[in-house]
Amino acid sequence: MKLSLPNAQSHLTDCYLCPHNCGVERATASGFCRVGQQSYIASEMLHIGEEACLSPAHAIFFSGCTATCTFCTAAKFAFRPTYGVTVSPQQLAARIVQRQAEGARSVNFVGGDPAPHIPFILETLQLVGSQRQIPSVFNSNFYLTNDALDLLDGAIDIYLPDLKFGPPVNGEECGAQLGGMPDYWRIVTGCIDRLYGEGKRLIVRHLLMPSHMECCTEPVLKWLANYPGVEVSLLTQYVAPAHATDALAQVLSEREVMDSTTLARGLGLQLIE
Ligand code: SF4
Repeated sequence: MKLSLPNAQSHLTDCYLCPHNCGVERATASGFCRVGQQSYIASEMLHIGEEACLSPAHAIFFSGCTATCTFCTAAKFAFRPTYGVTVSPQQLAARIVQRQAEGARSVNFVGGDPAPHIPFILETLQLVGSQRQIPSVFNSNFYLTNDALDLLDGAIDIYLPDLKFGPPVNGEECGAQLGGMPDYWRIVTGCIDRLYGEGKRLIVRHLLMPSHMECCTEPVLKWLANYPGVEVSLLTQYVAPAHATDALAQVLSEREVMDSTTLARGLGLQLIE
């Protein structure tokens, strides 16, 4: 596997891995995500909670995130980029080989968000090399730049975007207001569209959120109908964390789950669990 490691490493001092485009602030951990030059791992485990085709997955949860979702259930490490432990790429590579031997069917890079950790992920995968017989999965909010997608090309087998928020309505969009990601819809759908055009395997997750059917779920599902062959995973287990406010502090209703599932089926989406 030939990866662009030098190109990736340049983002540790001058970072353009996501559209926050922090540049040199990365070097002092003062960029939007506050991830510095060292990657922290909150936890890693064999995880059975992923989609059946990926489970059990070797899930590697990186600390720090490029989003600031007000209802984040992983805030403990998503908003604390130095939460957890630092390991070397050699140590993580050895753990990936170990988890594979223990039965992992995929290795999932997740967070927080894995985007700030792309240089570390690429170095690790390079070290694992041909010892890896299971697919690598990039499980991300997909608020990425073209530079980031270029770097992942050849390293990632399955892309797992989390298309959570819908398009702007009257100039306002949930991705910016609730997720802290300006121009969310254009950027995230643009990344998915690019990879679809390149023939990559995509499993798109959509989290159902209470009272976000009209603004988010319906337009997201209708947009996905333009991409036959994309697998779609509807996440129906929304649980409001204690710090959630307004509608997002509510419970997702059975009606919302039923209507969304019916719509997805009616649109012919390839639903997976
Ligand atoms: S990954 Fe972090 S440092 Fe890099 S551009 Fe995005 S928010 Fe800024």
